Order: sequence, then C-alpha cells, then structure tokens
Amino acid sequence: MDLTFSAEQDAFRAEARAWLAAHVPSEPLPSLDTAEGFAAHRAWERLLFEDRWSVVSWPSEYGGRDVGIMEWLIFEEEYYRARAPKRVSQNGIFLLAPTMLEYGTPEQKARFLPPMAAADEIWCQGWSEPDAGSDLAGIRSRAVRAAGDDGWQLTGQKTWCSRGAFAEWCFGIFRTDPDAERHRGLTYFLVPMAADGVTVRPIPQLDGETGFAEVFFEDVFVPDEHVLGGVGDGWKVAMSTAGSERGLSLRSPARYTEAAARLVELFADRGRPGGRIADDVARAYIDAQAYELGTYWMASRAADGHTIGAEASCNKIFWSETDLAIHAAGLSLLGPDAELLERSPADPGAGAGGTSAAGTGTGQADAYPGPWLDGYLFALAGPIYAGTNEIQRNVVAERLLGLPRS
Ligand SMILES: Cc1cc2nc3c(=O)[nH]c(=O)nc-3n(C[C@H](O)[C@H](O)[C@H](O)COP(=O)(O)OP(=O)(O)OC[C@H]3O[C@@H](n4cnc5c(N)ncnc54)[C@H](O)[C@@H]3O)c2cc1C
Repeated sequence: MDLTFSAEQDAFRAEARAWLAAHVPSEPLPSLDTAEGFAAHRAWERLLFEDRWSVVSWPSEYGGRDVGIMEWLIFEEEYYRARAPKRVSQNGIFLLAPTMLEYGTPEQKARFLPPMAAADEIWCQGWSEPDAGSDLAGIRSRAVRAAGDDGWQLTGQKTWCSRGAFAEWCFGIFRTDPDAERHRGLTYFLVPMAADGVTVRPIPQLDGETGFAEVFFEDVFVPDEHVLGGVGDGWKVAMSTAGSERGLSLRSPARYTEAAARLVELFADRGRPGGRIADDVARAYIDAQAYELGTYWMASRAADGHTIGAEASCNKIFWSETDLAIHAAGLSLLGPDAELLERSPADPGAGAGGTSAAGTGTGQADAYPGPWLDGYLFALAGPIYAGTNEIQRNVVAERLLGLPRS
C-alpha cells in the first residue's frame, strides 16, 4: 500500500476544498429528521450534484466524475473537514447504488442513479420487520405474482426505516417463494412510497423528531422491471448492500478522524486533565487513525480488484466502537456540562452553531457541549444498526476465523 497521494489527487483535493469553502452553509441546517430539515438537506445535495460533487466516484453518465475510490476518500476527508451537512441521500448513494451498479440492468441504472445522485429521489431501506431484525432471513413480508403477470403484489410490514417518513422510494426484500429454504426464497424490490397500498407511519423518538417510520404494504403493485437482481436472488443482492453498509461506503474514516481531532481540541480547552481521561482521549484518537489506515488498506485492495467479504464485519465493529469511544471521552471531559443541551443567550458564541452532532458531520465547528451528547446518543445506536455487533462477531468467528457455529 502506497500512502503517497499523486499530484492529480492533490489537485483534486484542492479543488474539492475550495468548492466546499465557498458553498458549505455558514449556519447548520435543521435536523434532517424533520420535514423542514429534510427539505434543506435535499436542497444542499442538489447544489452538490449541480457541480458534480455529490457522487464523485460514479460514472459521469450518472452524475459522477469517474474518479477512483481513493479520490472518494479524499473528498470525504474534505467534506468532514469543512463540517458540511449530513447526507440525507446516504441510503441511496452509499448503500443501494453500489448494489445497483453491480446487479442493476442498464435501464435501472439510467432510471434510478441520476435522480438518486441529485437527491430528487431519496431512498429508505426496508429490511427489518417486527419479528425479523438480526434474523433477516426470517422476514415474513411477501410478494406474489400479480394478476396480469407483469409484476408483483407486495404485502407485509417493515420497521425502523431511517428517512422512511419522507423518502420517495424504498428498497426492500420480500419473500417470493414461501416453500424455499429461508435464504433462498427472497427477492429484492424497488418500491415507490407513493404507490397505492403503501402506508407510512412515522415513529417519533424521544426528541420528538421522526427519524424512523414503519411502512405497511397492502397488495402494492411493483412491476417486474423494479426487481433488482434475479427473482429468488434477494439474499445475495441484499448481502451486497450489507457489505457497503458495514464496509467501505457508509462510514468513511474522515467522520472519525475529524471527531477525534475535535476531541483533542476539547481536551486542550479543558486544561489537559491527566489519568484515565487522557488515556481515553489518546486511545480514541489512535483508533480513529487506525480506522483510517485500515480503510486505505481495504480501498487499495478493492482498487486492485479484490472483493471485500466478511472483513466488512470487522470494519463495522471497529467504526461503531470507535465512534462510541470518541464521544464517551468527550462526555468525560465535559463532566456535568455535557448535559447542557442549549446555549445560554448570554453566551457570546450563541448562534454560531447548535444542531451539529460531534462526529456526525451535521454542522459547523462548535465548542458548546450539546453536540457531544447528541453524538454520543447517536453513537449508542452504532452497535445496533447495519447488523448488530453480536451478529458481526458471529460472522467474524465463523467466516474469518473458521470457528464452529456452536
Ligand atoms: C439508528 C438505527 C437505524 C436503523 N435503520 C434501519 C433501516 O433504515 N432499515 C431497516 O430495515 N432497519 C433499520 N434498523 C434496524 C436494525 O437493523 C435492527 O435493529 C437490527 O438489525 C437488530 O434487530 P432487532 O432490533 O430486531 O434486534 P434483535 O434481532 O431482536 O436482537 C436483540 C439482541 O439480541 C442479539 N442477538 C440476536 N440474535 C443473535 C445471535 N444469533 N447471536 C448473538 N446475539 C444475537 C442482538 O445482537 C441484539 O443485541 C435501524 C436500527 C437503528 C438503531
């Protein structure tokens, strides 16, 4: 692995940095889990798309710049460095798109990728069901052939759909062969949320925002051309999406190296306490750097044509635990101040930030403590979403270490 960037890559970085410096909103956008914030984040993504910064590594015909995975990592570093807004289109561009590029027909790619890159169509992920989370192959939502034999009728319930309250499309897996062995009878569908028979029920969270939704399907018609991959191949196609979610694309290292850099700033602001807190800060910082190097290693292998398999599970455990370690150290440094959620009106810095979550890249530089608590609360979800860490450890044990299943 060569960690030296080429002159072209340095020029790419400089161009990205200049564009972001000129365009990143000076005020944080409202939370994307509100209708207002969703619209504001969509408008930001359209701006990115217009200047072809939305999906740099995609082919240019779909809105990208035809650059490689290393340039994508460079762009992400600059994006987090600029404290640019969270990507409301992340389910589409980071999860579905790599799978569509691998399994989609030319017509599907031409139809779906450009509006996904432009945030004209935002996607949610319909996998989990009330009785099937870790045991994804146990899903009960089903699809049967439609009367005209030109598509499918979908029935069932999905839950915990992030962005589901406002998204235009859902990608999900449904059981198309009730008699096949669990993993075999599944098919991957692309479903418009506005279709007849789809009911979206937002799930309010403790903070009152509706980041999640339950989605109910009652005889929803989906044409054959909205099946991604083959009928019955849903598990294989879904595992490609899971590989992106756990592996390279969902959580780029810049998210953690930026948060770790802010942790070190906070450590200095708080008078560099010694003892256990200093150890925790150092450890979190080193882990963020290690995650970055590990990602470069994986990206180099991917660029050389290697596929990323079960290693993605190690990656997922590491990024989720690093996120928690960074934010836990932040809370330790802040002590009771960590619970101050809002700025005092008398604070001279009031108005310079406020909704940004440390480590989530939502907003701008901010020394006020609220983002550390927000970031910590979100980090707590990291070991759960994208497949729980217990399940990832099972994968590592069985598939990487070759240990027996029981
Ligand atoms: C922030 C967030 C966003 C999410 N977004 C989405 C989304 O957009 N779309 C979507 O479909 N889902 C989403 N989810 C749901 C997520 O995928 C599930 O919560 C997760 O897969 C776990 O499923 P479960 O909640 O049903 O827990 P369960 O599967 O019931 O697990 C409960 C506990 O038992 C453990 N456990 C279960 N089986 C085993 C086993 N075999 N070995 C060891 N331990 C085991 C689990 O690790 C967990 O600790 C999201 C979740 C969160 C927290």
